[in-house]
Amino acid sequence: MKLDQTLTTLPELFYAPATPTAVASPSWVIFNQDLAEACQLETQWHSPEGLAILSGQRTLASPPPIALAYSGHQFGHWVPLLGDGRALLLGQHQDRQGQWWDIQLKGSGPTPFSRNGDGRSSIGPVVREYLACEAMAALGIPTTRALAAISTGESVQRTTTEPGGILVRMARSHIRIGTFEWVARQGHTEATQALLDYVITHHRLPISADGNQALAFYQWVISETASLIAQWMSVGFIHGVMNTDNCSILADTIDYGPFGFLDAFIPDQVYSSIDQGGRYAYQQQPAIATWNLARLAECLLPLIDTDPDQARTQAQEALAHFPNLFQSHFQQRITQKVGLDPNQTRHVKTAMAYLDVMADNDADMTLAFRRLGHVQRQTSRNDERLLVLFDDPQAVDQWLIQWRQCLDTLAEDDGYRRQRMDSVNPAFILRNHLAQEAVDTAIDSLDFSMMKKLNRLLSRPFDDHPEHQHWAGPPDPSQRVLTTFCGT
Ligand code: AMP
Ligand code: MG
Repeated sequence: MKLDQTLTTLPELFYAPATPTAVASPSWVIFNQDLAEACQLETQWHSPEGLAILSGQRTLASPPPIALAYSGHQFGHWVPLLGDGRALLLGQHQDRQGQWWDIQLKGSGPTPFSRNGDGRSSIGPVVREYLACEAMAALGIPTTRALAAISTGESVQRTTTEPGGILVRMARSHIRIGTFEWVARQGHTEATQALLDYVITHHRLPISADGNQALAFYQWVISETASLIAQWMSVGFIHGVMNTDNCSILADTIDYGPFGFLDAFIPDQVYSSIDQGGRYAYQQQPAIATWNLARLAECLLPLIDTDPDQARTQAQEALAHFPNLFQSHFQQRITQKVGLDPNQTRHVKTAMAYLDVMADNDADMTLAFRRLGHVQRQTSRNDERLLVLFDDPQAVDQWLIQWRQCLDTLAEDDGYRRQRMDSVNPAFILRNHLAQEAVDTAIDSLDFSMMKKLNRLLSRPFDDHPEHQHWAGPPDPSQRVLTTFCGT
């Protein structure tokens, strides 16, 4: 089994050697064969030998595993050193398209960055992260991936004693805004330049070698991040802990902790147990992304221009585009979700008004989009299944009048429109209560059947799956999950 470790071409302050700690009796919980095949991983990874390496029983002779150093702003507060405290980078694999994949073990024992932590993970967060990243990938949203979940056969001490687990995570990159902050805030301009060059080259970013590369890179990250946040919000995703160390430089969703998906469309929804002030609420996400991107600008200023004022002005001008970039991505998605034309102002306005009707009437976001696709243009015969989702059905009735007027301008067949809408409106999302049930059964009795069923279902979220209709809707009041946790 062959891997590379290209990050070791960077100055040593970016990483520290780290070795996984062997565990008592590892076993596969799940192995993601589709992902392994999609990126042409060698078949031996899914073998007893692969299990030994991914669980830390055996170490590959080469390359040496490393833990990455990074800093971060957590809830707005500067933390000079975080780093991979419960994860290490085994190495990197390049697929036939030339795309690099980091293979990271999360929960594989202490590293030089563990501080007082045990470097381990409970099986609960492993199950949660596995489900989340695979569900996001199936929705077409940029994300880190899960290659496998492993049960360690050991216990970890959290508030209670829980079974241990390891997540084998794959990602295009594990470089974060916090990685740039780690070197730039120490004044290491050359190392910041080396990191920038590495990211541009290794990931073959569409940034020309001529001109101001640092500025072009910054503009690229802004644009990708705006698109990512719009994609999150179009499916009701709340990351929950958008600290700069949890923001991938390639704008992939990374570090699934206290995340959650909206049931009812409540714009100021917060699930995270540690987010008392609502800093990372659903509708705060574009503003927080802007704040984080401003922290990235501070790192890049010396590379943008030797004149600090010039550099600041250029970075500010670039960042000033974020709100418009985000709005246009978001509006486009919402307009497509209601089956209208993003190029017509009236259609966009009508689409965005649907969100207000949902918010005012506690409507379930996922069902409100999905069922709209099944409403007919010229008759209200099928409206009832949609209307019942809203506290005041009259409010949505009024909105449907506007919507039908817009549809008339498209003069499209209902069946065709429904197909178009179904392809952008998932029937199933990883609802918090479903994730919780999978986590609880895993922790209580190492029973992964719910996890596997959900994982299979969510790998095809746009299909109807009549046999799983009971998982399409919001929870009963008794199943409602009001708080999600960081979990480690
Ligand atoms: P996260 O919650 O993944 O954003 O982690 C924040 C920081 O805490 C990172 O530096 C992690 O590596 C570290 N950390 C979280 N859990 C543990 C653990 N069990 N042992 C050591 N470090 C940890
Ligand atoms: Mg993190």
